[in-house]
Amino acid sequence: MRYIRRVSTTPPAEWSARLSVRATARRTTALVNALTQQDPSPEGIAALLLEHGERAPVAMSARDVADMRAAALALRDVFAAPDADGAAAVLNRLLAGAPGRLRLTSHGGDSPWHPHLDSSDDAPWDEWLLASSCLCLTVLVWDAQRPPGGVCASVSCGNVYLGHGSGVPRRYCSRRCATRERVAAHRRSRA
Ligand SMILES: [Zn+2]
Repeated sequence: MRYIRRVSTTPPAEWSARLSVRATARRTTALVNALTQQDPSPEGIAALLLEHGERAPVAMSARDVADMRAAALALRDVFAAPDADGAAAVLNRLLAGAPGRLRLTSHGGDSPWHPHLDSSDDAPWDEWLLASSCLCLTVLVWDAQRPPGGVCASVSCGNVYLGHGSGVPRRYCSRRCATRERVAAHRRSRA
């Protein structure tokens, strides 16, 4: 059989960045935050997956979302860890339950080569979320020797965020939360 190479129109840099460790970690934080909200909808989660590079169509049921929510709550513990030792302990516990061996896949040439820890390319969404997230968070701990991020210090928020490369450790998930808390602290100090 003649081998016909799939022709990609995506520029090489964009192609390889699509499933980079950082891009995967950004997808993980977005999904953890969306799934741990009150009553996440299948439509909302499917839209988020598409936004983060998943190929259409994304079939998502209420049951899938409920299962993914459990995975998201487990992953939240990695972000809540106070230091690298704590994050590693949580990740080791989650990795001990990984359903598959480490392997590389390109989904038949549809994506750049990237590692998977789930049982197969057709694994259920919750298994995929837990495995792919553990994998990228593990690499971040390995690379920086600190937790991959944190939980927003605003009690009214509780979103998780990724840490910066270096510099001052962040406390809030967004500029919005930082500003709101700074204003509230200022009001308290003047009261
Ligand atoms: Zn926040």
